[in-house]
Amino acid sequence: MNNRRARERIWQLVADASLVVLLLVVGLAGSVTAYRALALRAADQQRELLSAMGQSIVGAFDLQQVRAIEALQVTAQMLSTQPNLTRDQFRRYGASLLGESSTMTLLEWQPVVPRAQLAAFEQRAAQEQPGYRVVEPAGEDGGFTAPQPRDVYVPVLYSWPESGAALGVDMAFDPRRMRSKLLARDAGAPLASETFALIRRGQIGAQTQGFAVSAPVYRGSRPLGVEARRAALVGYIAGIIEVPELMREASLRANANELDLFVYDRDGMQRLIYSSTGAAATGSDERDTVHSVDVGGRPWHLVLRPRPGFVGAGVDELPLAALGAGVLATLLVGLAVARSLVIRRRLERAEAVLAERTRHLTNVLDGTEAGTWDWYRDAERLNVNERWAQMLGRSKAELEPVSHKTWERLCHAGDLVETLRQLQRHLDGLDERYSAEFRMRHADGHWVWIQSTGRVVERDAEGRATRLAGIHMDISRRKADEQRMHDDARALEAANRQLRDLAIVDALTGAFNRRHFNDVCLAALVGAQRGQAVALCMLDVDYFKAYNDHYGHQAGDVVLQKLAQTLKDGLRRSTDALFRLGGEEFGIVFSATSAESARQFVGQLSAALHVQAMPHEQSPLRIVTASFGLAWWAAPTSHLTPETMYAQADTALYDAKRGGRDQIAIRCFLPGEGEQVEVPDTVR
Ligand code: GH3
Ligand code: MG
Ligand code: MG
Repeated sequence: MNNRRARERIWQLVADASLVVLLLVVGLAGSVTAYRALALRAADQQRELLSAMGQSIVGAFDLQQVRAIEALQVTAQMLSTQPNLTRDQFRRYGASLLGESSTMTLLEWQPVVPRAQLAAFEQRAAQEQPGYRVVEPAGEDGGFTAPQPRDVYVPVLYSWPESGAALGVDMAFDPRRMRSKLLARDAGAPLASETFALIRRGQIGAQTQGFAVSAPVYRGSRPLGVEARRAALVGYIAGIIEVPELMREASLRANANELDLFVYDRDGMQRLIYSSTGAAATGSDERDTVHSVDVGGRPWHLVLRPRPGFVGAGVDELPLAALGAGVLATLLVGLAVARSLVIRRRLERAEAVLAERTRHLTNVLDGTEAGTWDWYRDAERLNVNERWAQMLGRSKAELEPVSHKTWERLCHAGDLVETLRQLQRHLDGLDERYSAEFRMRHADGHWVWIQSTGRVVERDAEGRATRLAGIHMDISRRKADEQRMHDDARALEAANRQLRDLAIVDALTGAFNRRHFNDVCLAALVGAQRGQAVALCMLDVDYFKAYNDHYGHQAGDVVLQKLAQTLKDGLRRSTDALFRLGGEEFGIVFSATSAESARQFVGQLSAALHVQAMPHEQSPLRIVTASFGLAWWAAPTSHLTPETMYAQADTALYDAKRGGRDQIAIRCFLPGEGEQVEVPDTVR
């Protein structure tokens, strides 16, 4: 039983724990899912925001570079209509162009000079710009030297601004730089070179990154086809654009939006050409937004990376907050559910205990066959169980509505007062419990003995008993047993009394027998100790043997009965007693204050016998007579015994017989020195 319960409890515990775990898992999974969805949305929003900002930043950058390149294009077209460009003309173009574009820092005219014309070219240029010579960088030390022999030279003829310009430097020395020029020549459009450290005289190796945009200048109008363009090429207008300058506006905008800007040239190997932080970007960030821009035919990537203070960064906090709230709510709900489950289990256990107790109580009630009652005094309602009614041979439904009045109506009128008294004693606090026995009317008409016990179970604020409860037990059998025992006891008592009487009374005459004589004598002597006189008279029927012989034994018995009755009738005090001492011999113990009154009393007895005058043919007197021996003590001492009394009376009787019968012989004992014996006095 206990094992089964333990197993049930373990299963309940497992089920409850599983439920809570499931709840937590579902709640946490939901929270995480919500977090991820929100995070994705937030990331999308951030990307959109970044994208919008990127567009704005890239737009600013694009505008700058497109303007610069278009300006170069226009200049190149104008130059193609002027085959003999002078230094002054170029200065004007340069001043105008650089004045319009802040990004372009240097404008150069780089004519194409075939080797055969190099000397003449140098001569002509030197006339205009004294000391002009075509050169090329001489290694890393920064010096310049005469150019290597080439088919074609592309020296810088004019430059604006002129100060610090690389005048005379042959671009053809560097195939890398020439690459973009040759492509521009063939394409008939300005093209950008890759970025490089800007060359200025005496400043080789300067850190400023820049690139050149070269616009091809043809003779006459723009030729169609690559061959035609190659044949018509005159030179290149090259604008030097410093990357930081080009990026200025875009960089300012990026900075204002808490973004870092990295620019890469994606042609061939990816190369960092600008960083708003001044350093290369570390690794890659998932929030990077990349914008591809065509810069003079070169694919550039502008990468925007949000800094921690980026305006959209706060969006990240919402999913985290949602996740936190979700987890917290899940835990709280889990906790609440666990708590309610624990409480529910406790309640279930309490209910089980209660049910067990109720079952136990019901079993006890069934076992004891007790009827229950529950009395709401104010409502006059008495709730009883079926057994209560069954005891009275009725059903509960039959008695409904049951109230105190129902009980009173069925209770025996003779028991009502005592029962209500017992109830009051309990209500008054005199008895700890109420207990009463009374009879109630059975449906068959007989009385059922009920024992009711109970006590107060509820009181009001003033302490007044408002509700009592208890049980009824059918004690009819016990009561019947008790009655039987009572009757038996009485019968036994009567029998005992009879036995006792038989033991001390003579069956024939009704006088006390010899056995009782001693007791009565002793009692008389105890009374005599208090100074009272005591007397014993003995008598014997005269010639009784002859009577029997003459009239028969049965007639003799009748004589004895009559004699005894006559003597009994003659007794005066309740303490006087008659004894049959044997055969036709009797004794009378009596009190007499004087010897004379004693003698008188015995004389009256003798006379009463004479009055009876029972015929006795064989006696000289013709009637039944008796001889009396009287012994009287005025103040008996403690030495006087029943035996002595008997002996003295017997002696007196003997004297009476010897004196001739039908007479009284008296022996008196007076107080004094020793016991004085008076001379026998015989009365006839
Ligand atoms: P006395 O005058 O000297 O007394 O002569 P008595 O004949 O009475 O002599 P005694 O006392 O010796 O005789 C007693 C007789 O009493 C003997 C017996 O037959 C008779 N008796 C004793 N008890 C009973 C009795 O219970 N019933 C009857 N009918 N006779 C009894
Ligand atoms: Mg005798
Ligand atoms: Mg006799």
